[in-house]
Amino acid sequence: MSDLAIIGAGICGLRCAEVLRHAGITVELFDKSRGVGGRLATRRHEQWRFDHGAPSLHGETAQWCEKIHSYHDWDCDNNARHYLPELGVNQLAKELAEPLNIQRGCQIQSIERRARGWSLIDQHGGEHGPYAKLVITAPCPQTQALIKTLDTPIIKALADVHMTPAWVMMLVTALPIITTQELRPTHDVIRRVSAEHSKPERALGPEDYHYVVEAAVAWSQKHEEDNPTDVQAALMASLQDITTDMGQLLHCAVHRWRYAHTGRALGRPYLFDSDLGLAVAGDWCLGIGAEGAYLSGEALAKMLLKSGRH
Ligand SMILES: Cc1cc2nc3c(=O)[nH]c(=O)nc-3n(C[C@H](O)[C@H](O)[C@H](O)COP(=O)(O)OP(=O)(O)OC[C@H]3O[C@@H](n4cnc5c(N)ncnc54)[C@H](O)[C@@H]3O)c2cc1C
Repeated sequence: MSDLAIIGAGICGLRCAEVLRHAGITVELFDKSRGVGGRLATRRHEQWRFDHGAPSLHGETAQWCEKIHSYHDWDCDNNARHYLPELGVNQLAKELAEPLNIQRGCQIQSIERRARGWSLIDQHGGEHGPYAKLVITAPCPQTQALIKTLDTPIIKALADVHMTPAWVMMLVTALPIITTQELRPTHDVIRRVSAEHSKPERALGPEDYHYVVEAAVAWSQKHEEDNPTDVQAALMASLQDITTDMGQLLHCAVHRWRYAHTGRALGRPYLFDSDLGLAVAGDWCLGIGAEGAYLSGEALAKMLLKSGRH
C-alpha cells in the first residue's frame, strides 16, 4: 500500500512527490491528462512546438532558480531572467515525473475517507487505495468540488480563492507578426504574444514564425463560454491592431484554460487537516504562477516529513 496519494501531476504535485520520495515515502500520483505537467504544457502540431500554458520558467527564490537555471536563457524580458528547456516548458515536468509512480488518464471523481484510509474513485468507477494521507493539487475550483461533502475547515478557508480563465491561440505565419521575442501590448484583448521560434533551440529555419497569443484576463472571462471558432476570429481580428501583414496563415488553433491564473490567492503555501490526513496545495495558494506551485508542493512535503505525518 502507498503511504500517500497525490491528485494532480502538475509542477506542484510533482515537486511534492519528489521530496517525499527522496525521504523514502511511497507516493502514488493520479492525473486526468494523458501527460504530466498540467499548465506547464507544450503542444506539438506537425514540426512546431507551442508552450500554450506558461510560456517560460522564471522566478526569484533560490530553490526554484536552482531547478530551472540549468536550462537555456530566453532573452525576452529586460527585468527578469527566463529559462526554457529546449523541448518546451513541459520538459521540466517530464524530468520530474520520470522516477515517480503516476497513473495517467485517471480522473479522480470522488474521494472517501474510510476507517482504513482514503479511497479514490476514478471516472470508470475504479477504486484506488486505501492511502493514509491524501494531497490534492488540482486548481482550486476542482479541489473544492472534490472535498465539498467532507467535514473539514479547508472548505471555508478556500472560499475566497479565485482563479481566472485564459484563451490562447497558437499560430504559424508566413511573415513575422512581432519583432521581439515577446510582446505585452497595452490592449483590451491581447495580453501577450510569445514568439515560439525565438526560444532557445526552437527555430526550425530562418523563415519559421510560430506564436502563442494569450488573451487578456477580462476578455477571457467575458468570452469563457464562446465557441472556439468565434474566439479564433476575434483574436485574429485583434492581432490586426498590433501587426501589419502576417502573410499566409499556415496553422491556427485555440485552447481555453478554464483555470489559468490566480485572481485572489490563499496567501499560504498549503492547508492541512491533520484529523483527516488531507492536504491541498497548488499555484493558487501563493499566487505567483509556476514558481509558487513548486514552492507550495515543496513546503507541504517538508511539513509532512517534519511532523512525521505521512
Ligand atoms: C495561458 C497561461 C499562461 C501562464 N503564464 C505564466 C507565466 O508567465 N509565469 C508563470 O509563472 N506561470 C504562468 N502560468 C501559470 C502556471 O502554468 C501555473 O501556475 C502552474 O503550472 C500551476 O501548477 P499546479 O501544479 O499548481 O497546477 P496544474 O498545472 O493545473 O496541475 C494540476 C493537475 O491536476 C490535474 N487534475 C485536476 N483535477 C484532477 C482530478 N480530478 N483527477 C486527476 N487529476 C486532476 C490536472 O490534469 C493537472 O495536471 C500560466 C498559465 C497559463 C494557462
